[in-house]
Amino acid sequence: MSTTRFDLVKDAFAKKAVAVDTPKGKPSEYFGELVFDRAKMCKYLDAASLKGLLACIDNGQPLDRKTADGVAAGMKTWALEHGVTHVTHWFQPLTEGTAEKHDSLLDYDGKGGVIESFDGKSLAQQEPDASSFPNGGIRATFEARGYTAWDPTSPVFIQDDTLCIPTVFISYTGEALDYKTPLLKALKAVSDAAVPICKIFDPKVTKVYSYLGWEQEYFLVDEELYAARPDLMITGRTLMGHNSSKNQQLDDHYFGAIPSRVMAFMRDLEIAGHKLGIPIKTRHNEVAPNQFELAPIYGETNLANDQNQLIMNVMNIVARKHGFVVLLHEKPFDGVNGSGKHNNWSLGTDTGTPLMAPGKDAKGNLQFVTFFVNTLAAVQKHNALLKATIASATNAHRLGANEAPPAIVSAFLGKTMTEVLHKLLEVPSDTPIEIAGKKGKSLGLVEIPEIFVDNTDRNRTSPFAFTGNRFEFRAVGSCANCAGAMTTLNAAVAEQLTEFKAALDVELAKGKKVNVAIMDTLKPIIKSILPVVCFDGNGYSDEWKVEAVKRGLDVETSVPEMIKEFTKPASLAMFTKTGVYTEAELAARNEVKWETYSKKVQIESRVMVRMVTNHIIPAAISYKEKLLREVKLSKDVFGDDYVTMCAPEITILKTLSELIEKATVMAENMRQARKKANAITDEYEKAVAYHEIAEALFALRKPVDKLEEVVDNDAWPLPKYRELLFIS
Ligand code: ADP
Ligand code: MG
Repeated sequence: MSTTRFDLVKDAFAKKAVAVDTPKGKPSEYFGELVFDRAKMCKYLDAASLKGLLACIDNGQPLDRKTADGVAAGMKTWALEHGVTHVTHWFQPLTEGTAEKHDSLLDYDGKGGVIESFDGKSLAQQEPDASSFPNGGIRATFEARGYTAWDPTSPVFIQDDTLCIPTVFISYTGEALDYKTPLLKALKAVSDAAVPICKIFDPKVTKVYSYLGWEQEYFLVDEELYAARPDLMITGRTLMGHNSSKNQQLDDHYFGAIPSRVMAFMRDLEIAGHKLGIPIKTRHNEVAPNQFELAPIYGETNLANDQNQLIMNVMNIVARKHGFVVLLHEKPFDGVNGSGKHNNWSLGTDTGTPLMAPGKDAKGNLQFVTFFVNTLAAVQKHNALLKATIASATNAHRLGANEAPPAIVSAFLGKTMTEVLHKLLEVPSDTPIEIAGKKGKSLGLVEIPEIFVDNTDRNRTSPFAFTGNRFEFRAVGSCANCAGAMTTLNAAVAEQLTEFKAALDVELAKGKKVNVAIMDTLKPIIKSILPVVCFDGNGYSDEWKVEAVKRGLDVETSVPEMIKEFTKPASLAMFTKTGVYTEAELAARNEVKWETYSKKVQIESRVMVRMVTNHIIPAAISYKEKLLREVKLSKDVFGDDYVTMCAPEITILKTLSELIEKATVMAENMRQARKKANAITDEYEKAVAYHEIAEALFALRKPVDKLEEVVDNDAWPLPKYRELLFIS
């Protein structure tokens, strides 16, 4: 085994970059090649189908069967030109990743032959045998069938030989069984709530878009080294492994030169992404060794999220071509940074006005401040819920550890906006908010300096940071579906905007001028958020944990407990008022979350115990045996002198015995704890029991990592951190 490990390392180290198959033309020429976008719609659809489809996409008009048939016919022609043979509804069940079931286009032609067939019905709806997807008992209680139905706001695309149709996934009785359905509802809710406010500023506004720009962090590991680590293969993270002497302490990886093998992978990935219409823009090294990031240009939230789901899948495929495996787990390695997926979020009108950025004039600035303050109020009210939306068995390892946001949701405003809010409380309500530098300074004016607009300060320790024209929700995990966080955030903001509008109407009814009424409605909100959710200090510090409790922010760190937030009265009211989730859906989803949590920890714990039993202890024993033989030999040769001569060996032997004993006992205890947990039927109680096992995993890795430090390098069966993290 030992030689094999060195062979693997040597092979991995010797690997050279694979040549990239550069497509013909510039990225702008092949961008979206595999997407049935508007240009393709115009080219491949007849006039009536095109009109019907655009009415559906732009104005939410229902798609009738005749139009669907026409659309399917056009899509088929386009797909066949690309060699497509199969079609699938592509959906996002409550697992990680996407689901697809491929059907061949092949059908009998009724004349004894076969043809390629694809009609409106197959485009619009499918009935996958969905009983194996997590549903939290919804389908058991209601009806066994699940449906997928096309989401025309996300374009159809081609992957390999398959036409992929983005769909929602719902039960026969209409409950959402996926991530997309509630997201679409939340996006509608935030638009419906925001439009009446926007209309005060610009009557032409009819729709408000939510925008998402995700930043996907990931690790790359050589595939052969990966295959030699059962923990990585099965759980996506290393359950054991002693720190490398050097990891990220020199800060030499962040933004460093990209290794050539990685660069080849990134280029291939970008080409694949661009062909799929994903506007990948940024690539760079991240903080930890072998950690990288990929970010596109932001886009409408539903589409941007689909693209993120798609790219996570494409990353895995492309990585294998380059002899890598992509790790999307939030904490693949202990002691170095974990991976997040910052969700850059903003709102904007269909007239092109960004709502989370300062405006062109005092009126625009007032609109910005209105949305800015209401967003903060929503985050304050639902801080515990927002944290619950990003909580998972995997993300739990990242929150509060090594440069990750803490397990407390607060908001960073930056110096300028903090000052603006304080100033607004001091001045009369009709004071204009100006951009300083453009109009001359005058005392008493509320100003946003011009430089601020594209040069905001940053706070890397804040989970929800304002960055000049957007908020960056940084606590989202790297393997999460952004829809979870985006659904809650947009819904919470929708609720807040509706409440704000109602309060504003009361002020307006008093006959106040619009700007005065708005400021009078905003002021009490500003007063309530500044001392609570707004925090610009160091979110990683221990003092903040104490302070956050005083402020009434949620500081819960146990995932099973956090999940309870979804069904607490304030969340329930918010989700049902906005029409995003029903009570039954929320209850079912909680069951799924607890179940998933328990299963993940259960798998980790099984892998851990087996690795301790089958890999670690045998390696330690073989080293022990080697030492024992050496001691015995010394005794034979030198007689009683062996005691002094073999003092170091005897010390090591004692350490080995102690560590083996510790690991054995702890592994056995873990097995017993698992047995007990498995007997619990209530999903919440079971998750609580597994939470303890998750903590015990940390404890068990201690003697194991210590053994790695002590045992002969030749005898160690697993690729070490220094090998996994530094070969690319
Ligand atoms: P950072 O400096 O935070 O790492 P990146 O350039 O890596 O920034 O990513 C920032 C992301 O935010 C990109 O996806 C970018 O398109 C997106 N973004 C920029 N402006 C907005 C906005 N107004 N709304 C939403 N996302 C935005
Ligand atoms: Mg970035």
